[in-house]
Amino acid sequence: MTTGTNQPRVKLGCIADDFTGATDLANNLVRAGMRVVQTIGVPSEPMHEPVDAVVVALKSRTIAPSDAVAQSLQALRWLQAQGVQQVYFKVCSTFDSTPQGNIGPVTDALMQALGLPFTVATPAFPDNKRTVFKGYLFAGDVLLNESGMQNHPLTPMTDPNLVRVMQAQTRQRVGLIDHTVVAQGPDAIRQRMAALQADGVGVAIVDAISNDDLLRLGPAIADLPLVVAGSGVAIGLPANFGIEPSSQAAELPPVRGLKAIVSGSCSAATNAQVLHFIQSGRPALAIDPLRIAAGMDVCAEALAWAEPHLASGPVLVYSTAEPRDVKAIQGRLGVEEAGAMVERTIAGIARGLVARGVQQLVVAGGETSGACVQALGIERMRIGGQIDPGVPWCHAPVDPALKAEGGVHITLKSGNFGTTDFFTKAFQTLAP
Ligand code: ADP
Repeated sequence: MTTGTNQPRVKLGCIADDFTGATDLANNLVRAGMRVVQTIGVPSEPMHEPVDAVVVALKSRTIAPSDAVAQSLQALRWLQAQGVQQVYFKVCSTFDSTPQGNIGPVTDALMQALGLPFTVATPAFPDNKRTVFKGYLFAGDVLLNESGMQNHPLTPMTDPNLVRVMQAQTRQRVGLIDHTVVAQGPDAIRQRMAALQADGVGVAIVDAISNDDLLRLGPAIADLPLVVAGSGVAIGLPANFGIEPSSQAAELPPVRGLKAIVSGSCSAATNAQVLHFIQSGRPALAIDPLRIAAGMDVCAEALAWAEPHLASGPVLVYSTAEPRDVKAIQGRLGVEEAGAMVERTIAGIARGLVARGVQQLVVAGGETSGACVQALGIERMRIGGQIDPGVPWCHAPVDPALKAEGGVHITLKSGNFGTTDFFTKAFQTLAP
């Protein structure tokens, strides 16, 4: 007999420091067999769906450390109220941070709130070519500080040694569990964790150069209430809860409604995807940022164009342009204003499309995705099957004013993800 106390509880609670990183983590957990919901910010309501993991997506990577700490603690309290057994602080696989944080300060705050003397940290994600060896982070075949990340506008990473990077931003002593230990398996890792802790180390960076290393790490950290990691470590955790990969984890509600794609990404992969879609003969409309700047109602124009095409298959509305054209517009309007203006327009078009019956929506562009999710009033998404690495279909309830009975299926593709035929392939993978 079931009683109230047998209610399904969330097993793994994740706090992600950015939006597309949250989806990446959720995708890995689903592939390892967990049923996952991603929330946009900290929810105001308890989780009613029977899921194994919740990923709370924050935008805390580059905000002031005190704000990042406050938001992360708020997320922690909400996750604790859902009964989570383990907390996963998801950081970037290139360990993006400034000398002040926010990985260190947030880790310190979460450890303090949970009363923990020790945790592990590793951004290793071999599937994505991020490996850690002797504490040094490699991106592809080069060290982090030679990978281009040394020039990142917000979080330049000039030191590839993660023990030093972490030590510069945490109050705890930082140590290393190196590959010779990881290669020996879970028992050796556990022994090393105990020895480091006895030595006064509070955070241990962990080497991992393959998925096998992450699968050896998984059981060793089963009893740690907190782990700090990129999305790679997720592949080894579901088994600790007795969960195995299964297609059921990715099941979403039945597909319905019309199909559309909106793209505000100008990355090379998206440009090729837009071109491929146009060449397939499907209807596509380019929107012109200069017309938006001139005060024309580009959103209404695009919706009027799309309406007669929608019944016969997916349509594409895109602002995608070659780098030279983007630079020219940015030169006239300023980079920020040009970006924000295009994002607002595309988000308005996405909303208008859903109001016109679109319930299968592909969005291209990381920032563009954030704007669209907000415009659609999406607060949480169930994570489904993967279309391409790092890009799953999701299902979400939307703003009731849109009258999208049964919610929308939506996929949020960040710029350089996906194969050239992504826009057509996405709908094929969703078809019943
Ligand atoms: P990606 O994931 O490829 O980086 P984003 O959506 O994160 O894509 O970022 C693309 C940015 O470029 C957004 O701010 C978008 O509004 C802006 N943008 C899109 N098209 C144009 C264009 N034609 N001219 C200028 N800016 C544009």
